[in-house]
Amino acid sequence: MELYLDANATTPVLPQAREAALAAMADDFGNPSSIHSAGLKARALMDGVRARARRVLGADTGRLLFLSGATEGIQTAVLSALSACRRAAVKPELLLYGATEHKAVPEAIRHWNALLGLDLPLLAIPVGRDGRHDLAWLRSHAPRAGLVCTMAANNETGVISDLDGIADALAGSPALWMVDGVQALGKLPLRLAERRIDYAPFSGHKLYAPKGIGLLYVREVAPFTPLLAGGGQEGALRSGTENMSGIAALGAVLAALEEGQVFRGHGTLAAWRDRLADALRQAFPGVVFNAPAELCLPTTLNFAVPGVSARLLLDLFDAAELRVSGGSACSAAKSQPSDVLQAMGLPAWQAAEAVRLSFGPVVDEDFIDEACARIRVCGDSLRDSCMRPGAPAQALPAHGLTRFDSEGACCYLLADAASRRAVVIDPLPELTARLAQWLACQDYDLAAVLDTHSHGDHASSAVELWAATGQECGSVDSLGWPADAEAIELGALRLTRLALPGHTADSTAYLLHDAAGLRLTLIGDTVMPGALGRSDFPQSAPQQYAASLRRLADVVGPRGLLLPGHDYDDRFATTLAVECAAQPLLGELFGGRLDDGGFAQAKTALEQDLALTAYQTVACGARVDAGCALAGGELAPEALQNLLREPAGLVLVDVREPYEQRLGQTPELGPGATLEAVPLSGLPEALARWLALPAGTPLVFFCRSGNRSAQAARALRRLGYVQAWSLSGGLALWPRAAAGVDAALAI
Ligand code: PLP
Repeated sequence: MELYLDANATTPVLPQAREAALAAMADDFGNPSSIHSAGLKARALMDGVRARARRVLGADTGRLLFLSGATEGIQTAVLSALSACRRAAVKPELLLYGATEHKAVPEAIRHWNALLGLDLPLLAIPVGRDGRHDLAWLRSHAPRAGLVCTMAANNETGVISDLDGIADALAGSPALWMVDGVQALGKLPLRLAERRIDYAPFSGHKLYAPKGIGLLYVREVAPFTPLLAGGGQEGALRSGTENMSGIAALGAVLAALEEGQVFRGHGTLAAWRDRLADALRQAFPGVVFNAPAELCLPTTLNFAVPGVSARLLLDLFDAAELRVSGGSACSAAKSQPSDVLQAMGLPAWQAAEAVRLSFGPVVDEDFIDEACARIRVCGDSLRDSCMRPGAPAQALPAHGLTRFDSEGACCYLLADAASRRAVVIDPLPELTARLAQWLACQDYDLAAVLDTHSHGDHASSAVELWAATGQECGSVDSLGWPADAEAIELGALRLTRLALPGHTADSTAYLLHDAAGLRLTLIGDTVMPGALGRSDFPQSAPQQYAASLRRLADVVGPRGLLLPGHDYDDRFATTLAVECAAQPLLGELFGGRLDDGGFAQAKTALEQDLALTAYQTVACGARVDAGCALAGGELAPEALQNLLREPAGLVLVDVREPYEQRLGQTPELGPGATLEAVPLSGLPEALARWLALPAGTPLVFFCRSGNRSAQAARALRRLGYVQAWSLSGGLALWPRAAAGVDAALAI
């Protein structure tokens, strides 16, 4: 069952609100502007809800409008305030907004400031490390301000603003004051009319009403300019026929709030928040909380775990059916630091790797118990995967090849469970701590740390890795190969090397053999998916490149799997046959249409305009494969369900990482299907095995959202395996036993 812990983003609709909305659609559907009985009924309902909202918000005076949500409320308030600034006899000099405001606020101010031709300077009110506004700063700037915007509570951190302190700092200022009350609705007593707040927008969907309904409070004496003109609804302040089902639903929520049965009080919520925080401390020792609990809404926790990315935590929580969100905007590859946490002056890693957990005030104790239990299970899973910093070994010994990558650069770890020895190939400085932690947790010895060449863009971090593990390196050559060794033996696995001068004079491939023969080749940058390593560096050997490629072909053949040192497009592996088709230059060489000298010349021409190498850019080789068609390969859930019913010899591959696989749901298998668990980090090794499957065997990859599985299917298709598919939308869209809205509400 899904546990929804992202209430600051939106909430499910309360059952009584659903019922009220349905009744307003089915029975009391009148237009409140009509003067017949149906209309009068609708108006009475609307007036009742407005009266309730006034009581809840402490707004017995002033205007209270229904509109579509907070973004519209913010526009209306800003338009009203800036229109007044434009009319003012004495023009204000500044517009101010809190540095941690929701984007809707500064964007609205920018928009209307420009559109109205005011062009006033816009300044962010700084906040302290605790997320609260710098009141001294505000006090000194307020006399020159036309508008001041300060939210009541922050959506990312839950930090509650000191509204009385702000009111004090604004004393004597001519500025109009907007307070974004979205996250405070139902959680804080706002006493709007008592304070000198001019505008306060609210949104229904943050408090168990549907999306599309909101409120705007406007102080009696505050200037007002309608955003929407038309039929004169809402006393001509906001035209357009009212959203009666939304208003009815909001009314039901406000009624529940007033009655006090369904919504929990501050003390209970704070105690539950503290229990969730304790569970996080147990699960992730070292976790840091990004805002002081005593200043925050009792329903929000914002945290980061040193050495564990937000992306990983989100995948992990999602696998445990816990829906939390990145405290910052999180793209698939790398999280963007949160503006809010940066404004608070938190260290960059904390701002980039923050996670937000927020629950709504109607959850019950069972919900919190279950969430705490699952958080602990998440911690155990991370520990068992050797991903939890400082955790002792608990996991099964790892075996085989694991790929780590950092922005396109690939590092491989080859482990042998029998001898408990491992080799690292192309170590990356940013992975040193993680690799050392992995080796310590697994209790493996390092047999070697190898580089495929002396890198143009960074120094090898082999020495640092040896030092971080506390192990002795012994006597090795400049690429880390043990002195006098023919091969590196790792149990039944064997590594040999092949010199391939070209990209650099010392470029070397490492060949991995098992009992059956050559399994795959770690090729470095000599051949990358869609590119050849550039050979215009001082340490390059361009004249020898073609001969090296021929030597490689002799040893590995056209279909031998090559694992690259850089992989900018998530292709994972390639072969000479695939690259000959993708890269004209290679095709010409192996097609006999270019001799070695001609190859070197053509390559020089290709590299003429290549930018200088900067670390982690695409400049390690000239990409020529951009047009490669890799479309298709997605299976809708229904199509997979049909396939699973057939005894078709289907192979279903879970590409989530082990820490997710331990927790997550797996599709029901049909009679002929087999299930494999191969995380993306283990994909390069598995590709060789799959390519040897009987022709026509369908392989379907799945993951959480469909992104990683699509990468896997594309990689296999590029290698010529056309029966590779990915489950579109991932497990997120896979039909499951109904969790239901009531489960999310825990009521
Ligand atoms: N202000 C805050 C603090 C919010 O959290 C949000 C929603 O995320 C908004 C404004 C925008 O609200 P709405 O979705 O109703 O437009």
